[in-house]
Amino acid sequence: MKKRTLILKFILAYFIFFTFGFILVTIFVPNQTRDYLIRKKAEILYSEATLIANTYASGLYTSEASLETVALQLNALSVYMESEIRIINPSGRLVLDSSRAIPVDETVTISGFDPAITSGTYYVTGDFFGSLKSEMLTVLAPIITDYKIKGYVAIHTSMQEIEETCNMLLNISYISMGILYLLSLIILIFFVELVYIPLRKITYAAEQYADGNYHYEFQVDSQDEMGYLAATVNYMSDTIAGAEDDQKKFIANVSHDFRSPLTSIRGYLEAMIDGTIPPEMHEKYLNVVLNETERLTKLTNGLLTLNNLNTKGMRLEWSDFDINKVIRDTAASFEGTCRKKSMAIELNLVGDELLVHADLGRIQQVLYNLTDNAIKFSHHDSVIKIETNIKKNKLFVSVKDTGIGIPKEDLKQIWTRFYKSDSSRGKDKKGTGLGLSIVKEIIAAHDQNINVISTPGVGSEFIFSLALTDTDEI
Ligand code: ADP
Repeated sequence: MKKRTLILKFILAYFIFFTFGFILVTIFVPNQTRDYLIRKKAEILYSEATLIANTYASGLYTSEASLETVALQLNALSVYMESEIRIINPSGRLVLDSSRAIPVDETVTISGFDPAITSGTYYVTGDFFGSLKSEMLTVLAPIITDYKIKGYVAIHTSMQEIEETCNMLLNISYISMGILYLLSLIILIFFVELVYIPLRKITYAAEQYADGNYHYEFQVDSQDEMGYLAATVNYMSDTIAGAEDDQKKFIANVSHDFRSPLTSIRGYLEAMIDGTIPPEMHEKYLNVVLNETERLTKLTNGLLTLNNLNTKGMRLEWSDFDINKVIRDTAASFEGTCRKKSMAIELNLVGDELLVHADLGRIQQVLYNLTDNAIKFSHHDSVIKIETNIKKNKLFVSVKDTGIGIPKEDLKQIWTRFYKSDSSRGKDKKGTGLGLSIVKEIIAAHDQNINVISTPGVGSEFIFSLALTDTDEI
């Protein structure tokens, strides 16, 4: 029921439109048309009546014309005008009537005659004080001589012609209205086809997605907003389905990465307790256990960092700092590790001091992760190069090694959480696969880019950009 309300509303709107249209055409339009036609006809008749009053009829009162002459003229005029013309005294006595001759000895009076009947409109419809057999349109014009009203010229005309014209015009408007309704039905059909049916499909699909059925597929072929909406909903479901798969993979990875150090810790501890590992060997194995716990700590820290980075609206603590100092400090912190592998870090930096605008702590982490990887995946006695370059008002920092390199098929994936290439698994047991995803997120949060160029067996170079401090502003 809920789903059908839209179409019901549309049909209701259609019926309201139909009803109001019907009332308009059957009541308002006929009245207006009839009034208009009567007024127009009355205007013409009134000017005729005034003309008669000022010419023939006033001649009668100034004795310039005889009753017979005027009667003849009025008869001719009434035939021509298809109307009845009368001359009436102010008292209501008929002086002349074009429809019949009034005998000299007979006095015909219109009882109740009141010339004020037309006041305001100068015309009246009806039987004119009961003096007409049928309903007629009457106009009344005064005959004035010597500034006195001597009588009135009344012209009565049949309403039939007006009614006929009115009916003809109304028929046209009824037919137009009918055609309009039929045409508006087309709108209803279009609405159902273009809006209602696609909308129902989209709603049904949305319900399916809400129920967790993200693989439900539907088709809306139109190229308009509905098609766009359907494509967007489809895309959204794919993204959600993808995110769900990612989540599952993520949890599987986390569990796996937590389980292996825990299993080995448990194994060593049990072996120590039950005596499989003799007490004199305890120190050696406790160190192994320590290493494993270190790995767990690293994993947990990595996850927490990623989680913080992922939080929407992550706030960076922007500041202007000397990137050269940060690079030197990072390199120094790896001195011990490098010595163990007889490796060296070579720095090739622009200027003595170079200010960049970024989050110091986060950029330190980026440099740390990249240098850590470079050392991890390099051979003994090799050199790591950290260089800076300025191009197009941006600083590019490169961390380059001559280590194992990354196979082409792995290049896209190294940024994904928990990804470790097969070749690196053996070499780096402590790796979490989170380092580069953290790096990527940090650089993206700075609105900058990071790229990698790598050839297996030759080495890798990671290059990221940073915004230089706008020295004009300092
Ligand atoms: P981790 O180093 O903890 O395994 P990272 O996300 O930092 O995780 O790196 C992901 C993978 O990318 C590594 O396991 C390795 O296979 C590859 N990788 C990263 N840096 C290098 C590098 N400098 N040389 C070769 N392989 C690298």
